[in-house]
Order: sequence, then structure tokens, then C-alpha cells
Amino acid sequence: MTGLVFLEHHGGEFLKGSLGVLAKAASLGEAHAAVLGSGVAGLADQAGRYGAAKVYVVDDPALEAPLPQPRVDALAQIVREQAIENVFFAQSVLASDVAAGLAARLEAGLNWQLTDLAVEDGGLVGKQPALGDSVIVDVGWTQTPRLALFRSGAFDPVETGGQAAVEQVGVSFEDFSLAARMLEQLQEEATGPSIEEAEIIVAGGRGLGGPESFTVLEELAAALGGAVATTRAVVDAGWYPYSTQVGQTGKTVSPKLYVACGISGAIQHKVGMQGSAVIVAINKDPNAPIFEFCDLGVVGDLHSVVPKLTELVKTHRAG
Ligand code: FAD
Repeated sequence: MTGLVFLEHHGGEFLKGSLGVLAKAASLGEAHAAVLGSGVAGLADQAGRYGAAKVYVVDDPALEAPLPQPRVDALAQIVREQAIENVFFAQSVLASDVAAGLAARLEAGLNWQLTDLAVEDGGLVGKQPALGDSVIVDVGWTQTPRLALFRSGAFDPVETGGQAAVEQVGVSFEDFSLAARMLEQLQEEATGPSIEEAEIIVAGGRGLGGPESFTVLEELAAALGGAVATTRAVVDAGWYPYSTQVGQTGKTVSPKLYVACGISGAIQHKVGMQGSAVIVAINKDPNAPIFEFCDLGVVGDLHSVVPKLTELVKTHRAG
């Protein structure tokens, strides 16, 4: 099985999710990568280090802005010219647009929200959570190319230290693909790592009681060098931005440590964080469902437990 992975990058760095999908493709066969952008030649080496055997580089000013349509042109050309049978994407706003556009352009089947991929009886099988993530459904494709979009955080990147063969590709863009212009791009202010990238996440739920209590979590996250995440209850209440929501209708994360504070552990939240290596729960209700699947549980009021934890972390780090 050879799979082409759309390697999304911003600010000269690949997204962790894209590198994770690359690692998955490499584990099933030969992984190829598409690096599309302007001034991106240096990124091709990085792709090799993360498992790509071959990298198609399209370096063109038309790809400077993170707009989907020119990327659809580039990928469609590569897929057609190289007779590529499998194209994989890690979910993001841009990748979702590009995957959907490519599916339309190539009249190809796109399976999305996949959490895994396997080769079974010689065929490719996607694993797709369904019915509120309570079951995993096997999905397939009736024709090639097969397009697959994986949930963010589905796979971890694996640094192989390899070297990729690099092929520069010149693309002729469609007029309609160049019609859109990016007028302005605003960066959301961020003080630490994003929840997709963070190795440590401190998550807060409705148990915090209000938006002002998030400073308590932010202090613990800062002490640990981690990021703050939330539940949907928090986002729906307008206490914290949607970009931090973990769960079925938010993001899937898999940090080394997930500290859940004032979170009940509803199934829709659990599906987004159950891949964390170690889950610590702080909840004042000993019967909260989260205690059924955490590794370490503290029954107590987060307002007193979390600040003490922050002090301990600071003291430990200073020593
Ligand atoms: P609650 O369930 O209200 O839990 C609050 C917890 O805080 C309780 O366990 C309580 O004991 C504890 N607590 C209270 N005070 C304190 C204190 N002082 N100290 C310590 N503990 C305290 N949810 C998500 O998170 N992500 C999703 O993506 C998502 N998608 C959904 C999709 C659908 C279709 C549906 C129907 C629901 C979805 N939900 C999602 C909502 C989900 O069902 C839960 O309602 C939500 O996760 C609950 O959030 P919570 O744990 O913050 O709040």
C-alpha cells in the first residue's frame, strides 16, 4: 500500500496531526508526502525524517496563502500523473476543504472522521466512530483514488530519521482556483502550545463555576508547560473559546498527561481524550463517571486542590 499524505504546514512547521498520519501511512506501506506552499523547499527534508519515502514539492507563489483551491489543483495533478491510489489528510479547517475539493475534482470517495486505518484481507479499511462514538464502523471505498480524512490527534508522529527522494512538481493552476485572495490573516493570541500539540493538558469543566476560575487552570498549565482545554459545557456557556473544546464535537487529543478538573467524564468528552497516556481527575463527586476511566483520581474541591498542585509543581521545578 502506498499512500500520499497532504502535509499541512504553517509558519515553517508541519502540523503534528499531519505527521501522525504520515507515520500511520508508513506503518502500512510506503508513505509519500505532498508539501505545497511558497518557499517550502526546506520542509521536504523534515518530511523524510518523519517517514516519507518520497516527497512531491510544489513551490509556487500561488500557494502562499492557506487557501484550499490551488492546493486541490496541485494534488489533483500529482494524483493523476502518479496514478496515486490513496490520499490521506489530517483533519483541520484547511485539510477538510482540500479533501472535499479533491474528492469533487476526482469524483473520488472520501471517508472522514476516521480514527484508524488497517489493511485487512489485502484491502484498505477505515475505522469510523458512529452513533455518538459508541461503536466503530468499518468503512471502505468502491474505487480509487481512496481519500481519507483522519480526526485530529488520531496518530502520533514517529521520527524515523529517514531521507526522502524529493520531486519538484510544476502545476498549472485553474483560473477559478486563483480567483480568491487572502486579504488579511489574524493570529489568535496564544501564550502556550495548542491543545493538539501539547504534551500536557489541564482541562476544565463546568465544575470551575465560571470563566474567572480559569486563571487557576492557566497557572497550573503554565507551571507544567502545558495547554488549557475545556468541555463543551464550558464552551457553550461562553467561558472559554471553542478552539479548546475536547470531545466528539471538539478536538481529539492524546497528550502524555491530561488533568481533568471539574469534568464529569461524559462519553462525548471521553472520546476526545481517552487516548491520553495518563489521565488525572479532580472532582468533588466520588461517583463522577470520570473516576471509572482515569489513572489517578482526587476527590476534592478543585479550587483548593489545583492551586496546591501548582505550588508543588513550581517548587519541584525550582528544585
Ligand atoms: P458537568 O457534566 O456538569 O460536570 C461538572 C463536574 O464538575 C461534575 O462532575 C461535578 O461533580 C464537578 N464539580 C463541580 N464543582 C466542583 C468543584 N468545585 N471541584 C471539583 N469538581 C467539581 N462534551 C464535551 O466535553 N465535548 C464534546 O465535544 C461534546 N460533544 C457533544 C455532542 C453531542 C451530540 C452531545 C449531545 C453532547 C456533547 N457534549 C460534549 C456534552 C456532554 O454530554 C456533557 O454535557 C459535557 O461534557 C459535560 O461537561 P462538564 O463535565 O464540564 O460538565
